[in-house]
Amino acid sequence: MANYKDNRFYDLFNRQSANQFKIGNTTYKERIKKLNALKAALETTYKEDIRKAMYDDFKKPYLETDLTEIYPVISEIKFTKQNLKSWMKLQKVDTPLALLGASSYIKYEPKGVCLIISPWNFPINLTFVPLVSAIAAGNTVIIKPSEMTPNASKLMAKIVGELFDENEITLIEGEVETSEELLKLPFNHIFFTGSPSVGKIVMKAASKHLTSVTLELGGKSPTIIDETANLEKAVKKVIFGKFTNSGQTCIAPDYVFLKEDLKDEFTKLFKENLNQFYTDKAEDSKSYSRIVNKEHFERLTSYLEEAKSNHTQIAVGGNVNSDDNYIEPTLVFDVPEDSKLMQNEIFGPILPVKTFTKIDETVDYINSRERPLALYIYSKNKKNIDYIMNNTRAGTGCVNHNLLQFLNPNLPFGGSNNSGIGKSHGFFGFEAFSNRRSLMKQHTIGATDLLYPPYTNFKQKLIDLTLKWF
Ligand code: NAD
Repeated sequence: MANYKDNRFYDLFNRQSANQFKIGNTTYKERIKKLNALKAALETTYKEDIRKAMYDDFKKPYLETDLTEIYPVISEIKFTKQNLKSWMKLQKVDTPLALLGASSYIKYEPKGVCLIISPWNFPINLTFVPLVSAIAAGNTVIIKPSEMTPNASKLMAKIVGELFDENEITLIEGEVETSEELLKLPFNHIFFTGSPSVGKIVMKAASKHLTSVTLELGGKSPTIIDETANLEKAVKKVIFGKFTNSGQTCIAPDYVFLKEDLKDEFTKLFKENLNQFYTDKAEDSKSYSRIVNKEHFERLTSYLEEAKSNHTQIAVGGNVNSDDNYIEPTLVFDVPEDSKLMQNEIFGPILPVKTFTKIDETVDYINSRERPLALYIYSKNKKNIDYIMNNTRAGTGCVNHNLLQFLNPNLPFGGSNNSGIGKSHGFFGFEAFSNRRSLMKQHTIGATDLLYPPYTNFKQKLIDLTLKWF
C-alpha cells in the first residue's frame, strides 16, 4: 500500500482492507442481521426523512419515492434473505471421469474491498440496492453517492454511519474530485452506476489495478409500437414510463418508433392520458417532479430551443419555468436525426416520436446505434415481436409494458456494451460482488497420478485411451 500514502482515503481503505477477512467470514445469519437493520431504517425509522429529502432535492412526489426508491431496496432485501443461505453454500459441480477420485466445487467468496459510485436520479435505490448485494456477498464497502442530490446523500451518510462501523461500510459525500481520488485506490471491485462517458473514466482507472467492474450505464432506450398494439394501453404505459421522475430514469423510453398511420390517434390519446395523470397543468400537479438542477434544466431547454429552431413539430407541451426547473411533459414529431434530441440520451420529459412503415426499419435504425439499456415493444403480433427480439441486442426490456423489468429480482439487470457491463439484482448482484473460486478436492489416488514423468510407452497408451474415451 506504500504507493497510496498521499491519497486522503488511504487510511480508511487500509482499515477496510485489514477488516475484509473478518467481514468475509461472517455467517449467513450475521449478514441477514445487517440487511434487517437496513430494512428497518428505510421502512420505518427514516421513511419520512427519505420522502422529505427526495422532495427537497427535486420535488419528487412522496408516492413515487415510496415506489421507486424505498420499495426496490426492501424487495431486494427480502429476496436476498430468502435465498442467501443457498447462494453462500459451496456449489458442487460434476467432475469428469478422467479426474476420477476428486470432487469439484464453486465457492462464492467476497471480492474484498468494494467501491460503489451512484447517480442522482434514484439516489436511495441505486445506492442501497447494490449495497444489499455487497453485504450479502460479505464485502467491505466505500460508497460515493452523487453530489447532485445533496439531501439524499446527507441522509444516506447518516443512515450508513448509524448502522455500520466505518471499517466495514462507509459513505463519503463529495464532488467529482472525491470520486477521482477514490478511483486511484486498488479496490477489489467497483460497482458504478451513471453515464457511459463517466463509465469509461471508471473503467480506465480500474484497469490500472485490473480491478473488476460492474458498469450500470444508460443511453437511448427505444419503444416500438406497431399497428397491432392496444394503442390506448400502450400510450398510457409510455406516459407512465417517460414522465415518472420527469423522465430522469435510465430505462425510461427515450423515443418512440410508431407505425406511420397511428400518428393522429397516438397524439389524441397522449393528450387525454396526460391530462388524466397530471391535469392540463402538470406544473401544479403534486404527481410531477422537477429537473434535478439548473445544469440539467439548461441542457434540456437547449434541446427544446434547437427543436423550435429546426421546425420540429411540438405536438404537446414545450413550456418551461426556470424558477423551478420545471419542464412540461412534451411530445415532438419530425425531429432531425442530427439534433441533440436524437443524438443524446434525453434523460428528461421530452418524447420524440419517429414513424416507420415497415418493421425492419426499426431494427435497422436501432442496430445502427449504440446498444440500448432497454428496448420496449408494444404489439400483439408474435412474428413482429420475435423478429425484433431476435435481430436486436439490448440489456433489458418488456413486451407490452415498460420499467417493470427492473422490479423482478429473478431477472438480471444491466446493459450491453455502451449501456453497461455486468449485471445486478438478486443472485446476479450477489455474483457481481463475489469471486467464483474453483475448488477441487482429491480424495483418492487419481488417474492423473499415473501419468507423472518419466513418460513411458505405457503412459502414452493411457493418454491415447483417455483422449479416445474420456
Ligand atoms: P454521472 O455519470 O454524471 O455521475 C454518476 C456518478 O459518477 C456520480 O456519483 C458522480 O459524482 C460521479 N462522477 C461524475 N463525473 C465523474 C468523473 N469525471 N470521475 C469520477 N466520477 C465521476 O451520471 P448521473 O448524471 O448521476 O446519472 C445519469 C446517467 O446515469 C444516465 O446516463 C443514466 O442513464 C445513467 N443511469 C444508469 C442506471 C442503470 O442502472 N443502468 C441507473 C441510473 C442512471
